Amino acid sequence: MIAPDHIRAIAPYQPGKPIAELAREMGLDERDIVKLASNENPLGISPKAKAAIAGCLDELALYPDGNGFELKSAIARKYGVGLDQIVLGNGSNDVLELAARALLTPGSSAVYAQHAFAVYPLVTQACGAVGIEAKARNFGHDLSAMLAAIRPDTRIVFIANPNNPTGTLLDCDALHGFLKKVSPEVLVVLDEAYVEFLPKDKRTPSVAWLQEFPNLLVSRTFSKAYGLAGLRVGFALARAEVADLLNRVRQPFNVNSLALKAAAAALDDHDFLAESKRVNDAGMIQLIEGFQRLGLDYIPSAGNFVAVKVGEAGRVFQGLLKQGVIVRPVANYAMPDYLRISIGLPEQNARCLAALQEVLNK
Ligand SMILES: *Cc1c(COP(=O)(O)O)cnc(C)c1O
Repeated sequence: MIAPDHIRAIAPYQPGKPIAELAREMGLDERDIVKLASNENPLGISPKAKAAIAGCLDELALYPDGNGFELKSAIARKYGVGLDQIVLGNGSNDVLELAARALLTPGSSAVYAQHAFAVYPLVTQACGAVGIEAKARNFGHDLSAMLAAIRPDTRIVFIANPNNPTGTLLDCDALHGFLKKVSPEVLVVLDEAYVEFLPKDKRTPSVAWLQEFPNLLVSRTFSKAYGLAGLRVGFALARAEVADLLNRVRQPFNVNSLALKAAAAALDDHDFLAESKRVNDAGMIQLIEGFQRLGLDYIPSAGNFVAVKVGEAGRVFQGLLKQGVIVRPVANYAMPDYLRISIGLPEQNARCLAALQEVLNK
């Protein structure tokens, strides 16, 4: 095949190892495997979302609502934005890609930070644009380095807050100051996939900032705190002019019927969200205390995962697999000494820590 060089240069995204695959490979029972590898919600799916899906199975012969009216209305109510300011995505990864496809061409560039979410370089490369990686500071985004990295041909700056896989969080005032300095011609994609896990006083007023910054796009997902990773649904909030651009390159039915229904129901499941946060806060403490007992360094995280320094992470990862514990190596993020561990239920966290102790011979 004759494929362009920029496509051949793409290193495919490496997803977490599925439970069924490890069970096959190691001859283990799926029920004995703990997967803390993809930042999924250990509580499962919100009960309200589950009920909503069950009620619409009979409609699956029909195409979904391509405008997502019901879900957009629920989002508009919750965030105080217009329907024309919302773009729905097949996961927020889709939203990130729509932004890239709407704005990036060969000959343009996008800026993102070292150790930032892998999808930013992927969608940039897929458009044939140049990806510019700004050096991180203490594993977090260095906003001055990112500002300095912006060139006249830069069309998008990607910011993950908190970032995955480092869990680092930006200071709200610093981020606001950054937005004030970026040219309004450059779209700033603020990826807030983990915002629901933050304490209220750590959340940036990003949606309110849309009034001030015409070049801001806020990306959110139902995959993490809402527990709907398998359905694939996320959304962007932006000025209507920006949303319109993304909607032009969107597939007409990019979000499926079940996802639309489930997301609309999950959006107002406050009990489930609160419980997700509570379980995450407790699990974070449990894992960190375990790391401290084992004498392991970790990067303080604001997400539902934590990156821990284990030395030869590839070997430790394999050792954990043998014990039925799946975590995530992050060598592809230039962090070969680290493993990223998602926060699970108390007994899952305990199993992970025990397996880690065994593999590390501590
Ligand atoms: C998990 C994650 C997402 C969400 O991806 P979906 O496509 O919505 O499942 C987006 N951004 C970051 C930084 C993530 O870690």
